[in-house]
Amino acid sequence: MKAIRIHKHGKEDVLQIDDIPEPEPQAGEVKIKIKASSLNHMDLWVRDGIPGIAPLPLILGCDGSGVVVACGESVRHVAIDERVFIHPVLSCGECAACKQGLENHCRYMQLFGEHVNGTHCEYICVPEKNVIKLDESISFEDAAAFPLVFLTAWHMLVYNGKVKKGSRVLVMGGSSGVGSAAIQIAKHHGAFVMTTVGSDEKKQLAVELGADAVIDHYNESISKRVKELTEKQGADIIVEHVGEKVWAECLKALGMSGRLITCGATTGPMISMDLRHLFIKQQQLIGSTMGNLNELRELHALMASKALKPLVGKVFPYGAVREAHQYLADSKHFGKVVLCW
Ligand code: ZN
Repeated sequence: MKAIRIHKHGKEDVLQIDDIPEPEPQAGEVKIKIKASSLNHMDLWVRDGIPGIAPLPLILGCDGSGVVVACGESVRHVAIDERVFIHPVLSCGECAACKQGLENHCRYMQLFGEHVNGTHCEYICVPEKNVIKLDESISFEDAAAFPLVFLTAWHMLVYNGKVKKGSRVLVMGGSSGVGSAAIQIAKHHGAFVMTTVGSDEKKQLAVELGADAVIDHYNESISKRVKELTEKQGADIIVEHVGEKVWAECLKALGMSGRLITCGATTGPMISMDLRHLFIKQQQLIGSTMGNLNELRELHALMASKALKPLVGKVFPYGAVREAHQYLADSKHFGKVVLCW
């Protein structure tokens, strides 16, 4: 089968399309013929090289959808020919977090395409508990586009942010995968949604997704605009993944008792801050990563009812994976970059 692998770290040219043997399902595993898989910023970091990932070569890709072609022994709830998509979080299943259904808080959490071989290949075998039957109204491309980014945004806003009707929410980078998901999820909960984007074209798309106010992050002061938009109160919740370049502005935009929730550091991980503002304003800084199976099932139901919509920015054939990586890195996209198989 064809698989997109890296044998060493580096830029787009380390991406190779290899011919390798198809995997066969072990007990409890399901073999899926991949129809669509999507790119995440995580793929760029893994490709560039981050500490602690699986030995190379590695098949990239965390999100995927397709058709079941074989089931290992003891698989009970999945059948051959079913259309399915993959829950991207692997966990131990036995620790206190896993037993509470919070597998993204498991200390042994692993992700496809980071710690183990991922979804950018023709066939993948995954544990039965990571397979969800796909509603017939959802395309393979859409099903590959939403899990990681919507799960991440949902866990940030709902579990950590406790978003509710009337919450003043600032979504950083509204045109990114997590950002465009967060706009929709915050709006779905009745929040007042502010977001930042980098061009007029993206501004319009953010409004179409439900943003109440859009800030041009190249030409406007984010904190000043948030204060204007909130009668000087600031944001109750900030969804952050940009990192160093915007951290100071985010803290200025955060209101009394506000929660700044971060899941990424695209522009760099090192920040500094004045602790006095944090305790006097009784604010919370919360780290968040991925989400859990119950949240993914809830998201899938909302996708099926069209209350939320996956946002596919551009679809590439898998053979054009180097162009797809370049396209994602250039921030040309609004929504997700998907590979079709
Ligand atoms: Zn666990």
